[in-house]
Amino acid sequence: MIKVTKNLKKLNILYVEDDEAVNNIFTSIFKKYAKNIYSAFNGEEGLKIFKNNHIDIVISDIQMPKMSGIEMAKEIRKINETVPIIFTTAFGDSGYLKEAIEIGVDAYILKPIDKEKILKKLNKTADNLVLKQELKNYTKLMKIVFDYQTDGLILLDEDYNVIFYNKVAKNIMQKHNTENYKTVFDIIKSKIKNDKTLKEEYFKNIDDSEKMICVSYNNKFYELKIRKVDNYILVNCTDITDFKVKVDEIEDKSLRDELTGAYNRKKFDRIIDSLKNTYICLIMLDIDDFKKINDTYGHLKGDEVLKKLSSAIQNHLRENDFFIRWGGEEFVVLLQSLKLDKAKKIAEKLREVINSIEIEEVGYFNCSFGVACGLIECKDDFDKILKYSDDALYLAKKNGKNRVEAHWK
Ligand code: GH3
Ligand code: MG
Ligand code: MG
Repeated sequence: MIKVTKNLKKLNILYVEDDEAVNNIFTSIFKKYAKNIYSAFNGEEGLKIFKNNHIDIVISDIQMPKMSGIEMAKEIRKINETVPIIFTTAFGDSGYLKEAIEIGVDAYILKPIDKEKILKKLNKTADNLVLKQELKNYTKLMKIVFDYQTDGLILLDEDYNVIFYNKVAKNIMQKHNTENYKTVFDIIKSKIKNDKTLKEEYFKNIDDSEKMICVSYNNKFYELKIRKVDNYILVNCTDITDFKVKVDEIEDKSLRDELTGAYNRKKFDRIIDSLKNTYICLIMLDIDDFKKINDTYGHLKGDEVLKKLSSAIQNHLRENDFFIRWGGEEFVVLLQSLKLDKAKKIAEKLREVINSIEIEEVGYFNCSFGVACGLIECKDDFDKILKYSDDALYLAKKNGKNRVEAHWK
């Protein structure tokens, strides 16, 4: 007795056979093992049933009146390319073999039909069908899981070809896939390709450690976590633009003086570190008789003076110039690649700008300026220029305030 798997019980069978006695016998046999059995007595009838019902497997005789099994199978294939078709063939049907192969028939069972043989065949077909369906469902499920990740997922093979990516990754790619720009994928690929440590690490030693790199691209920032999994490279792609913008904002804030918005000394140190072999000019300025303003009009008025002065100066500087609050009512302007006479002219201009600021109650106020220039080759050079500009400022105060003095070397 043949053991019938439960998979066959899930399926609908169409059985087409013109011999009434054979049809009746096998219809009642199939009935026991399948979910539904539809029986027809010729091709035409079989095709009609196929069109009107969900059929999982077709079993058909070849020679039949009205429409042959071959013709019916051809019509079925036009509607459904994959439904399994099993022919029951009599002696002398071999002439149809070529046509049957072309149609893509799954099996032939010789007549008279051996019950065990056909049930065995049906079992196998059912198992295959269910397996295929399960695979399809599983793939669909995986796609849902991947596509609803917040990160982009990209899978590359060992030659860095992209072989899989999810919806988020696709969106990232499309967003940047303009004619003149490389895609993020290309960047990832070239990053991995060009990074020697990445390559060696990935293909020689380990498979479970994660490498992280950040790429900026078209004003967007991505954090890429790269890991080798089997023979693939899995890239996790997180858009960190919002985070990066916030971090930059916080960082910028930490580098500025709260009251005036001018840069602080921390920023100044960073600027100095970045200025090797550069010719710079420092303008040091200090508000004249500021103590008197505070004493006469109050500390808040003094603050207002500091704020108005700062914004006026910042409006008059170029992008590569830096404005730093040195302390109290003393500021430094750092200019690059300028001769001393030009820097002095700028200081004169700033002095006039400050002279024109009117503060309610206080009226007008003024500043003294000290200017010095030089080439920065090491930190000492910078300290020297700073001292020279301070000396020049001292001279400006000594010579009557509200004036510019330069340190000519
Ligand atoms: P000089 O013309 O020689 O520069 O005299 P000065 O009065 O400007 O200089 P002094 O160093 O005697 O006084 C500076 C004052 O600046 C003293 C200090 O209280 C005040 N000051 C420093 N920082 C602030 C601030 O943030 N806000 C206000 N309102 N005042 C400040
Ligand atoms: Mg002062
Ligand atoms: Mg002072």
